[in-house]
This record gives sequence, structure tokens and C-alpha cells, in this order.
Amino acid sequence: MLAQRIERARKTSGLSLRDLAAKVGVSQTAINKFEKGTLTPDSTMLIKLAKALNVKVGYFLRSTTLELEKPEYRKKSTLSAKKLQMIEGKILDLIERRMELESLFPKPPVQEFVIPSNLPEQVTSMDEIEEVAKSVREQWQLGLNPIPELVDVLESKGVRVFEIGESADSKFDGLAAKVNGQRVIVISSNWSGDRQRFTMAHELGHLILEGRLIDELDEELACHRFAGAFLLPEDAIWSELGEFRTRLELQELLMLKQEFGISMSGILYRAKDLGIIKQSYHKQLMIEFSKRRWRKNEPQPYPAEKPHHFKQLVFHALAEEYIGESKAADLMDMSVHKFYQLRMIEDGHAASDQ
Ligand SMILES: [Zn+2]
Repeated sequence: MLAQRIERARKTSGLSLRDLAAKVGVSQTAINKFEKGTLTPDSTMLIKLAKALNVKVGYFLRSTTLELEKPEYRKKSTLSAKKLQMIEGKILDLIERRMELESLFPKPPVQEFVIPSNLPEQVTSMDEIEEVAKSVREQWQLGLNPIPELVDVLESKGVRVFEIGESADSKFDGLAAKVNGQRVIVISSNWSGDRQRFTMAHELGHLILEGRLIDELDEELACHRFAGAFLLPEDAIWSELGEFRTRLELQELLMLKQEFGISMSGILYRAKDLGIIKQSYHKQLMIEFSKRRWRKNEPQPYPAEKPHHFKQLVFHALAEEYIGESKAADLMDMSVHKFYQLRMIEDGHAASDQ
């Protein structure tokens, strides 16, 4: 257990065996033995390792060995194996802290994810995905309105949403996975809200469509379609834009983006998929978007969402005395002093930390 955790912490930090050996002043072979479990570091060495790897000693002693089961990345191919290990290590650390916290509640604070019961067993065309998205919205009582906080919707349905921050690779494009049978979605805090939301809705698509698509349907494209249909239902886009259009104004797209939290190019795909605009006109607009460099960065991004459920659960557990202050600080990866300031709302900046 200890051996595995040393290895994971090293890979998460992006250090090679040699780098770590140099940092703590032992041979590369010794580090290798620590990771194989054939040599156990003493407590002085553990403290050195913790410092070098930027974790608390407690990290090594955690008894859980969670794994990401079948992680599904949106654009895995662009990330190096080393970067992937760093990102996965970070994600696992967040998930472990959350699972540990939840295990300290007398009753589980998060409900089980349940696939809506009104879905077809088999989906045979892209158009049927519209119906699936509609059914999910219906069962979750979302109506046709914009979803202001998608993180909240997912969390309330038992999908845990995690966010990894600045140091994550900018190419990381989100993932969905199972951990201990639980569904998790991970987004990056570096992105605009419309990008985060599309990723979350896309990943929700995987959870919902898993095992339902016939072989002829490409799962990635199907999940894109689901994401668009879930964020901006066909009835809503029809009532906003009309059923057939020869031209669209950019301002119309911008206003719709701000209302529904889906990118302008996402809206254009919807308009094309639903036959509101012709393929040729869609192509023409996409060329215009490329010229303006909007395919990378659109103007006036939708504000980013802030997953806050972990922090909320920490304070819930603290208030009910399921945990003490030092445990709370540990879970939030903060010093006790800094945590106290946050708890007492003493520092104007502290509230926005973490
Ligand atoms: Zn996907």
C-alpha cells in the first residue's frame, strides 16, 4: 500500500526516479525499492519524501487504493503518458479525499446515480438522441429552461464533479470514469463556462448512452449530440431562432450563448443538426469563425462553474462534529491556521480559496 502510494505521488509530481532520488539524497535503486515494497522508508525518509513530492505524510498512509475505471477522455491522444499520470494522480487524490469525507458521515451525503427509467434500451439514430436528452430533462424536472448550474444538477443526481486547476495541462479536456462503482466527471478550472458545461454534458452523455448505441453510431459524435440537446433542447432553440432560417446574426448566437451557456459554435451545430440552417451555410459560418479565431476562443465566454460540493460537505461535517478542525484542514489540503481563517471568514481572500 505504502509502496503504491509513493509511486503514485512521484508520478503525480512528474518526477523521474532519478529526480526524486536526488531530492531526498538516496540512490535511484532505493527509490525503486520503496516503490516495489522491497524496502520500507523510515519516518525521517517519509518526511523527506513528502516534502519532495509536495504531499502530507498522511497521503502515504491512506489505506484506500482507488482507481479510475475505464476513464474516458475527450482528447486523450494529445496528452503524453507522463502528463496523463500526473493528471490521473491529482484526480485520484481529490476523489480519495472526497470519499474519505463522505465515509465519515453517518448517512451517505450523496445519493446514488440512477439512470432515468424512461429511456429506450436501444438508440438507432442521432435523431433519437434528441428524445433521450428530452427524457432525461423530463425525468430530472428541468423543463426547457437554461440550466444555470450544471454542476449542481449533476451532483444532485449522484454524479460527483471534480475540478482540477491551473497546473493541469491545458490540453486536458475532461474525463468521465467510475471509481468504486461511483460516477465521476472531471473538468478543468482553466476553461470558460461554456466549454466546461459542454464537457460535463458530453460526459453525462457517456453515462446515459452507455450500452444503448447501435454499432453504426459513433459514441463520441453521439455524446456531442446529446450534450447539445441537453444544454439547448430543440423546442427551446426553435422558439428562439425559428424552425428555418436562411441567415443568422452573430448577435443572436451570442445572446443565446449567454442565456443557455453553450458556445456559439455549439449553437451553430445544433442549428445545422436540427435543419434550421443548411449545411452549406453552417460551413460558411464556420469559415468565418476560423478567420476570427473564434474556434479556439470565442468572445464573451460564459462564466466558469465552480464545483463547491466538497467544501460544503467539509463544513457540514465540521458543524455536525463528524470531523474536527485539523481533519477538515487536512481534507482541504490547507494548514490549520489558514483553514481557521477561512472558517471564521477572517480574511477577505480566504473565502475564494480552494
Ligand atoms: Zn467522449
